[in-house]
Parts: sequence; C-alpha cells; structure tokens
Amino acid sequence: MSFVTALCRYLVTKAKWACRWWTTWRPVRMSGFGFHRGGMGLKGRVVGVQLRYSFRLYPSAGQRSALAKAFGCARVVFNDALRVRESARVAGLPFVTSGELSKHLTALKKTPERAWLAEVSSVVLQQSLRDLDAAYRNFFDSLKGKRPRMGAPRFKSRKDNRHTIRFTANAGWRITGGGKLRLPKIGDVRVKWSRCLPSVPSTVSVVKDAAGRYFASFVVETSTDETLPEVTPVVGIDLGLTHFAVLSDGAKIDSPRFLRRAEKKLKKAQRDLSRKEKGSKNRNKARVRVARAHARVADARREFHHQLSTKIIRENQAVAVEDLAVRGLARTRMAKSVHDAGWSAFLAMLEYKAARHGRTFLRIGRFEPTSQVCSQCGVKDGPKPLHVRVWACGACGAVLDRDINAAVNVAKAAGLAVSACGARVRPGLVPAQREETGTHPKPQPETTGRQAGISAL
Ligand SMILES: [Zn+2]
Repeated sequence: MSFVTALCRYLVTKAKWACRWWTTWRPVRMSGFGFHRGGMGLKGRVVGVQLRYSFRLYPSAGQRSALAKAFGCARVVFNDALRVRESARVAGLPFVTSGELSKHLTALKKTPERAWLAEVSSVVLQQSLRDLDAAYRNFFDSLKGKRPRMGAPRFKSRKDNRHTIRFTANAGWRITGGGKLRLPKIGDVRVKWSRCLPSVPSTVSVVKDAAGRYFASFVVETSTDETLPEVTPVVGIDLGLTHFAVLSDGAKIDSPRFLRRAEKKLKKAQRDLSRKEKGSKNRNKARVRVARAHARVADARREFHHQLSTKIIRENQAVAVEDLAVRGLARTRMAKSVHDAGWSAFLAMLEYKAARHGRTFLRIGRFEPTSQVCSQCGVKDGPKPLHVRVWACGACGAVLDRDINAAVNVAKAAGLAVSACGARVRPGLVPAQREETGTHPKPQPETTGRQAGISAL
C-alpha cells in the first residue's frame, strides 16, 4: 500500500494535468449493478466499479521495435489459432478447445519457422489466444441472440492501424520506483502519469493507435466509498441533434466550440489526404495527419462528455434518459451527426458515474412519446415535424419548448418528480434556430465545468 501512496505523491508533484487529452477513463465491466428500474428509491446501491485508466507511453526507439515485435507475434498467434479452428470447422471436426490451442502454440515455438515467438513474453501470446476465445464467445452469443449480431472472428492484418498486447499479473510487469512501466522483454517504458490509480492494477494493456501513439491501459477496481452527499434535484435528459443535450431544468447544452473547430481541421486533413497519390510517401504522412486529427476530435469529445456527465451526476440525485435507438438512427440520413454526438459513450459515462457515486440512473423505453405529450397536463398532442421547436398544447394552452418538454417527460416517465415549469416558454423569448448557427461568441456556462471537472471526482 505504501508503494501506491508513494506513487501517488510522485504523480501529484510531477504530472499535473499535462496530458488529460490523452487519458481515457471508461468502464470495462458493469456487472453486479442493481439498475433500479423500480422499487429501489433514489439512493442507488454502490458497488465497486472496474475502470480502465489510460496513460500515454513514450517508448524509446529500441522499445518501439520490441513492442512492434510483440504486436506482430500476438497477431501471428491469433491468426494461427484462428486458422486451426477454421480448418477444423471446414473439415467437419469438433471445435478446437483453448487447451488444445495452447499446446499447439507450445509446439509451434519449437519449430524453426516460429522460433522467434520465444523472443516475446509468453503471457502476451497466451492473452492473444484469450482474445480469440472472447471473439468466438461473443460471436456464438450473438448467434444465440444474447447480444447484437456480429461477424465471426477475422484474421488480423499487418496493416491494421491499432495494435494491442496484454500483460497479466503473472507476466511479471510492474511500475518501478522511478515511475516507469517495466514490461517483460521490452524494458522500462516512460509513462506520463496524469492521475492517481485508485488501487493496484493487475493487468496492463499496451496499445498503439492509428496516430502512432502508445498507451498503457490499466484495469483497476475502485473503492466503494465514493458516494457523494445526497442532493435533492433530479433531472431528465433529452439527447438530440440540435443540441447535444437538453435538461428538464431548462438547460440546453450545445456541443462545445473547440470540438467544432477540431472537426473543421479534420475535414481539411481529409481533403489533403484524398489529393495525395496512392502508395506515395506523402500519402502516408497525410494518413498519419488524418489519424492524429481523428484522435484529437475523439479526445476532445470524450473530455466534453466527462465534464458534462460529472457535472450532471454531481448536481442531481437521479438522472433519467431515453433509451436511444442509436443503431437505427445511425443508418439514416443523420448518421454522421449521430456518430459525432457519441451519445452512447456519454450515457455509459453517466451510468457508471451514477453507480460509482451512489446516484440513480434510469433509462426509459423508446416507445414513450416524449415529444408528443404535454408535460403540463399530460394530454397527447400528436406527432410534430422536426422543425416545430415550440408548440402550444391544444388542451391546456401551455406554450412548450419541444426539447425541454421532452426532457421533462423523460424524467416523469422514469418516475422522477420534476417541475414541469422548465418546459414553458414565455412568448417573445424563443431564440429559434439562430442560436444553433454558433455565430455569437457568448459564454456557455453549461459546458465550461473545467474547474469542477473530473479532477475532483
Ligand atoms: Zn397541456
């Protein structure tokens, strides 16, 4: 334990927030939660959450080639094992078990063609076989209808632009006293620690992304005493395309400016790439630039999601959202905006942060006609075309903002007692579409939660 505190002290003095853009913080498994659809009251059950903490790695030239070798070996082992199973299937033989694959791997290492596999930590190769097992398990589950449809495991290519290897505890990896990451047969790699690890991790994955950056990704179990003090507000959220999110208390949250700027740059990089000759060196350079621009957009978006979800979870005891048909929407004309918004990633953050901090997270079904019902009197007013942003209820005469009304209805459908006043608009105060063009440089209090950002959580 003293080691962890020493490490934390090191991190606090050396790291600051220099590389927050490169860190991700997402749940890896959400099992064991009671997701209190009913009867649980507003005080969520708190359970330890497994989180993935990522840190940027800066390997030396020698370490980079050692890592390249490890990525390559992991890929070869994966492909060899997949080939064994595939040929067994084609020949009508029974499914090759992972035990048999393991034996096959040990035998392979002794052949001259695959002798170089011994130059890489054997744990990395074993974990590669585990990955194949997981891919098969997911595929079989999807055939049984336990999860969304997906394809059979596929061969990995040398040209893939994202590579991962995994070291478990018995690989003998560790964090050195000097704060470096010691990986077997690779060496002591420099790490940019951007935050403390809440507990000692058992597993580390090393990832090289399309932009050529290296990351160490740790799976850690968080402690269970992170419940935030109880608060009274509850909130419903309507996710949409005109605004990133609209809250039932009347707050409208647009996608932040820096994100749109990054997207502009990405478009330019993509145009440059399309002009370069295929197979040329310049094209490869342009490809890396596009990958970098993509990574920056993804990082900026994730950061925005973190800040917003943290703020919402901090300020509300219960959060209700509408279950989104993201898959369905993504196939429509709006596909690009849907992917851009990254709603499902945002909802996943809300969900695990709620579980972590003793808040309640509720999802309501998609069938609820949230945009058709008057939140004041509950009368269903019928469907409205998308351009209708404000409408007057035919029954009670209330003038309602479409998005806020929907957010209030989401909260009500989830059984939360929110005030419906937020949905009412006074005549003359309707900003219509102007606000969405983003030409007025006005401060956006909802999205600038930097100071109160994730550092405190
Ligand atoms: Zn009404």
